[in-house]
Amino acid sequence: MNPASFKRVVIKVGSALLVDQQNGIPKTPWLNALCDDIAELAGKGAQVIVVSSGAIALGRHLLKLPKGALTLDQSQAAAAVGQIALSASWTTALMNHGLRAAQILLTFGDTEERRRYLNARATMSTLLSMGCVPVINENDTVATTEIRYGDNDRLAARVAGMAEADGLILLSDIEGMYTANPQTDSSAEFLSVIEKITPEIEAMAGGAASELSRGGMKTKVDAAKIATASGCTMLIASGKIKHPIRAIEEGGKCTVFKAHETPLQARKTWIVGAMSPAGVVTIDAGAVRALQNGKSLLPAGVVGIEGVFQKGDVLAIRGTDGCDIARGLVAYDAEEAQKIVGKKSAEIESILGEPFREELVHRDDMVML
Ligand code: GLU
Repeated sequence: MNPASFKRVVIKVGSALLVDQQNGIPKTPWLNALCDDIAELAGKGAQVIVVSSGAIALGRHLLKLPKGALTLDQSQAAAAVGQIALSASWTTALMNHGLRAAQILLTFGDTEERRRYLNARATMSTLLSMGCVPVINENDTVATTEIRYGDNDRLAARVAGMAEADGLILLSDIEGMYTANPQTDSSAEFLSVIEKITPEIEAMAGGAASELSRGGMKTKVDAAKIATASGCTMLIASGKIKHPIRAIEEGGKCTVFKAHETPLQARKTWIVGAMSPAGVVTIDAGAVRALQNGKSLLPAGVVGIEGVFQKGDVLAIRGTDGCDIARGLVAYDAEEAQKIVGKKSAEIESILGEPFREELVHRDDMVML
């Protein structure tokens, strides 16, 4: 497996790898070595996103909180203190490699609620296009028990889906998945490729092997389900060594959960299958031709819009003959969309009075029927 073959890759780093359990300070030499690897990937053209834990681990030490389980309030306070230290570590380590860190803190709702999801996604892709490395964590200070991810494995998988990453690497304290707990069962076999997450695989993850890693093997398999369904191949590899990404490239042990389609295909499958359209946009013959040639839908080609919808909803795209030709995610709320029907891109800014998106439906968000 070559991590440099990914175009956009999310690397998830757990607290145990990043924070020294004895003294509660960041393991800077390890982090610097990981940033070497990240810089190497970036140098080969991959876009890298980091999902990093460690806020609570760093904060609890700074606040001198007792060992053992923390209450939610204590964890949130620790996260508030520790997140600053965590960002500082990443900023410095990435800067030493000529890379700029950008912090994004997300809650479960940000990855579930469509409007927030789209905003976070747009910011992330802008940052990536500017060559930044988004460093993401859960926004622990505002997340209550019900709205928490609680583990960054699943958060990382959501982020991978949101960013349309084709690769997700979970750096763990174990080098991958075994059929049973290798420490207690000598017949345990290492699984290097998982083509499909079957009930057997889930059962293995729910069993003894889960004790070996922080988030547990179960959350990793849950993450794999989310990632592979959005067209992202997921790897579990050991982060206990220096240069863990380079090690994978050099043939080191890891478990690969294969995605069977690309992120774009997965997204398009979702658009067609997801839900019934919230509205209908009727377009002229010129726009029909443009769409058939792979172009985005611009407001200029629209002759009418019906329906009460929000930005991010699925719309049916119809020709004036009444035939549906495509489905797509709309970039505007209904009210705004109505105002720009038939308008040229140059007129839109003065109508809406704010920076705007040129496309009513972007071609990546559209499926021809
Ligand atoms: N968000 C938490 C932190 O940064 C950790 C969650 C996890 O490790 O899965 O401390």
